[in-house]
Amino acid sequence: MIIDGKVISQSLKDAMKIEVDALAEQYGRRPCLMVIIVGNNPASRSYVRGKIKATEYCGFDGHLVELPEDCSEATLLAEIDKLNNDPLVDGILVQLPLPKHISEDKVIAAISAEKDVDGFHPENVARLWLNQHCILPCTPKGIIELLDQAGVEIAGKKAVVIGRSNIVGKPVAKLLLDRNATVTIAHSRTKDLAAVCREADILVAAVGRAKMVTAEYVKPGAAVIDVGINRTEDGKLVGDVDYEAVLPVAGAITPVPGGVGPMTITMLMRNTIECFLNRMNNK
Ligand code: NDP
Repeated sequence: MIIDGKVISQSLKDAMKIEVDALAEQYGRRPCLMVIIVGNNPASRSYVRGKIKATEYCGFDGHLVELPEDCSEATLLAEIDKLNNDPLVDGILVQLPLPKHISEDKVIAAISAEKDVDGFHPENVARLWLNQHCILPCTPKGIIELLDQAGVEIAGKKAVVIGRSNIVGKPVAKLLLDRNATVTIAHSRTKDLAAVCREADILVAAVGRAKMVTAEYVKPGAAVIDVGINRTEDGKLVGDVDYEAVLPVAGAITPVPGGVGPMTITMLMRNTIECFLNRMNNK
């Protein structure tokens, strides 16, 4: 089974569009997401375009704030502060990576935790690990949603996550653990990675190395979630999984493009609605 992130995303966005119209009626305004981009990194520009498009599609308020590459850290922090204090703004996203002269840690911590739609603020990260109410990071949240929508059982299964970054590997592992999977986190020092991965009923690859997960990594019938985004020499977008080789072995698999990627943006929309509702109901 191919888990089609595009189709699942589209139906979730269609449902959110209807929900947002109802929220506008009920609360007298629409959820508002502000996206900040610094500089001209082409990949960041393309991601931001996708996010703004989804924002418009779902009927949110909000827009893109563009700052030049040489914008100072102080200017960016002042912009964030302004949005933090704007009662009509529900979600703030600063597109990463930032130019080297700006501290990403400082910027992430400067966004008000209640408007942190990316779920990267230390308070949200801590709350996730403490099992407290929090804003979940979009990619891990999208992965669980994909598994649920595809009908993949998580409870009681063995899951292996390759990658231990703060934005993907570790939070995916935590969410799988919360759903009662038995979870192994593998990384660059893991010995005999293929053997470790072959134990998995659910295998999540979040590495950033084209086609490193071959058929010998996959237990027959396993669900394989490919988070990786890599470019081949001829410019083609590929994941961490050797898709053609793994497809006949896996029970379910996400393609790249069209798997986890669209779900990340869709979960950003979901988080914006959740931030809106938290704020409106805590007034
Ligand atoms: P990081 O570079 O932060 O982390 C990569 C992880 O892979 C590290 O934990 C590293 O191990 C591990 N790793 C590297 N080489 C190997 C190896 N040979 N064997 C086993 N493990 C290895 O990346 P991110 O987590 O930020 O992103 C991972 C991928 O996901 C990237 O391709 C990124 O573009 C993509 N991505 C996709 C998103 C989407 O929406 N689809 C969103 C976010 C990311 P160690 O810790 O030991 O160094």
